[in-house]
Amino acid sequence: MAVAAWRARALTVGGAAAAGLIGLVVFGFGGLAAAVPLLVFFVTGTGLTRWSARRLRPASARPAAGAAGRGPKGRSDRGGQDTGSDVRGRRASQVAANGAVAAAAVLGAALWPDPAWAAAYGGAVAAAAADTWATELGVLSKRPPVIITTGRPAAPGQSGAVSAPGTGAGLAGAVLIGFTWAAAAALGQPFGAPPPAALPLAVAAAAGGFLGMAADSVLGATVQVRFGCPACGAETEGPVHFCRPGGVRTEPRRGWRAFNNDTVNFTATLAGAAAAAALFRLLTRAVGG
Ligand SMILES: [Zn+2]
Repeated sequence: MAVAAWRARALTVGGAAAAGLIGLVVFGFGGLAAAVPLLVFFVTGTGLTRWSARRLRPASARPAAGAAGRGPKGRSDRGGQDTGSDVRGRRASQVAANGAVAAAAVLGAALWPDPAWAAAYGGAVAAAAADTWATELGVLSKRPPVIITTGRPAAPGQSGAVSAPGTGAGLAGAVLIGFTWAAAAALGQPFGAPPPAALPLAVAAAAGGFLGMAADSVLGATVQVRFGCPACGAETEGPVHFCRPGGVRTEPRRGWRAFNNDTVNFTATLAGAAAAAALFRLLTRAVGG
């Protein structure tokens, strides 16, 4: 899968290596059943990225891929806010930011058996999927998005910007992953134990994913580092601005330097996993299971 994704330019070499490692951990410790939601996330995410790229920019009007700032993690680098990473697909750090928590949850389940790990895993994957779906479909919104914390109008694709279609798409992505995972876990017994209660697992993973996506937007609107381009004055989210040939190095302007787009994604999937595990505990306790 990773090699195919690299050949299709959905991943860089490093991104493919990171994806292969995460896939190996998930498949190795959780089997095919655990790999199912990850595959659904990857296939739908890649498909939506391509589809929305075509919708946004017909082939005839498409300039050099990097210059337009249309990266795989569109939220970070649309509208000329280029991270300089897009042309060859997702980088290792982007893949790790989305997949590390999921892989850790599968490892946790193998080392310390507890059904809450399954919910955490589902919540992490659902958060990544929700964020991707929201980003790719939200930019097609006819009305401009607003910053989640202030309600002020924002540029499509800006970190912290939310729209009704994007939020709806994110919810759909989270629900798809939650229910796919619960079905796969019920059929496949991923961790060699009786499968966790299916409905609480599905609901907890989906809700965790949705909350993770919300956390991503809030962090993107508040602590995420923003850069300024010394050449043209534009505010960007990446260290390089492609307003000139070869790009211009930008300078940090506000936010925390440590909180770049990858850190925000990682924190959001962690929040999604924690919320899903906590909700799963509540739900299974409520029904006495
Ligand atoms: Zn510039």
